[in-house]
Amino acid sequence: MHFHFTHEISIEGRPGGLALDLPESCCNCGATETISWVDTTLVRTTFVPFPIMIGSEITLPIRLPSCPQCTRTINRLAPTLTGFALLTLLVLLVALFPGWALAGLFVETGPKRFELTLCLAPALVVAWQVLWYGGVRRPRKGQTTAYQPVRLVGVRRRWMSGDIRQFTLKFTNDAYRASFLERNPELLRAKVVRVK
Ligand SMILES: [Zn+2]
Repeated sequence: MHFHFTHEISIEGRPGGLALDLPESCCNCGATETISWVDTTLVRTTFVPFPIMIGSEITLPIRLPSCPQCTRTINRLAPTLTGFALLTLLVLLVALFPGWALAGLFVETGPKRFELTLCLAPALVVAWQVLWYGGVRRPRKGQTTAYQPVRLVGVRRRWMSGDIRQFTLKFTNDAYRASFLERNPELLRAKVVRVK
């Protein structure tokens, strides 16, 4: 099976694409009532050994079932390690300003204030991370994640044409994952879809 590579994998409409059979329960918390299908985009950033292709993004438009509580998580991309590192660096730079102000409360302006700023700024970054990832971006009641419950974690392409020949999905909800495996034996056997 081939997929024409246009930075977008079409899984709807048969010719050249494929239809995934998705269980009709919330793919995040597993709820089975008041399910709606949410348009979303799974994203995979690939790094291939051609300078021109580095950082190229492959997107997979998909509709995922969600309960009202989890709707907002469906489109929320999970942070990647690189993205997280860059964001932390950015926040650290921004934190130098309140760090400087805070240091001024304890010491007079001079090398001491500069040193204290360099200690306080990372502390502010850690405080932000604890608040943000521990409080705001925390999975709510019954949720398996605060981010996209279904993720595109791998894409394999033909060497020359770049056609997609296989993609790998990851599910945060184990029961949903098991149900997906049960419903899509042919695609899995053909190794078009892999599940992590
Ligand atoms: Zn839910």
